[in-house]
Amino acid sequence: MENLEKLQAFLKTPKNIVITTHQKPDGDAMGSSLALYNYLIEFGHTIRIITPTEFPAYFQYLPKCDEVWNYLENPRLSQIAIEAADIIFCLDFNDLSRVDPLNNYIEKNEKAKLVLIDHHLFPKVNADWVLHDVKACSTCELVYRFLEMFDTNYTPTQSVAECIYTGILTDTASFSNGATNKKALEITAHLLDCGLNIIYVQEQLNQNGREEKLRFLGHALYRNMIIKEDIGIGIIVVDKKDAYRFNLQTGDTEGLVNYPLTIKNVKVAILLKQEPKIIKLSFRSKGDYSVEKICREHFEGGGHRNASGGRSFSTVGETIEKIISIFEKENLV
Ligand code: 5GP
Ligand code: MN
Repeated sequence: MENLEKLQAFLKTPKNIVITTHQKPDGDAMGSSLALYNYLIEFGHTIRIITPTEFPAYFQYLPKCDEVWNYLENPRLSQIAIEAADIIFCLDFNDLSRVDPLNNYIEKNEKAKLVLIDHHLFPKVNADWVLHDVKACSTCELVYRFLEMFDTNYTPTQSVAECIYTGILTDTASFSNGATNKKALEITAHLLDCGLNIIYVQEQLNQNGREEKLRFLGHALYRNMIIKEDIGIGIIVVDKKDAYRFNLQTGDTEGLVNYPLTIKNVKVAILLKQEPKIIKLSFRSKGDYSVEKICREHFEGGGHRNASGGRSFSTVGETIEKIISIFEKENLV
């Protein structure tokens, strides 16, 4: 990070800090924000973590998660906090549109310094300090590396360790996807020395669910999955009726997109989630094939080579047709 010493000097005295992360925060977004919070709070700053939307309830185990403000529940206070911020940390996103509508308040606060810590392709945030590395397995890896540089004598507390490990574990799909790197394993080994309990984190993430969510998984795979091995794709649809029938909560579809990839000839998996005004799309791929390009060029989105997202404004049927016609030309098989 360039001019790190200026940031160190800036944070020597207590500041009004806002930490924000992308809409529908995942484990990396929540983990990186709370890791930074749990570190900085020791130094007398006033800190608000503000998420643009709600986040999954199963992240409540993260230390100080109850301090996170969901803008949708707390719009006025969130706005005031952003307006009063001396410095805003932007974590786990590459474009201010990913925090909409917070971007409007961030852009209005011209005196606030901005720090970007992120690992998505093509960062577009114009920040005073930037730690950006697309090779990082997660933003949590980058927050760990940031703390190493920022405070050379620092040893992560158990709270910080749990937050950082959560982002590493979720963004690497438990050390199994293309984001997995040597640093992920090295950091995890060090966090174990710092008191991290990996069984506890994995229980909270994977063994703490609801029956409805498991029944929904069976239903989605049996009824709502289209496999087209001829063009190398698998599609799962979650419509409004399913969301109602299975009482789906925020985060309940996390990981669902990966299932079609368990089939040998499926190279790309796509999840279509019907939301009130749009269809939210999640793309995952195997190997070197980049779904980021597809999301950026066709679905107003982006992300990483093997995990990206976007949106569609058409119907479910039309969106499926569009996806199939794109992949008929991609020669995946
Ligand atoms: P997911 O499919 O889990 O929602 O997102 C996969 C990855 O793509 C995440 O890293 C996420 O931040 C990114 N992503 C998801 N949706 C969008 C989007 O609309 N725009 C951009 N730029 N990135 C996205
Ligand atoms: Mn991430």
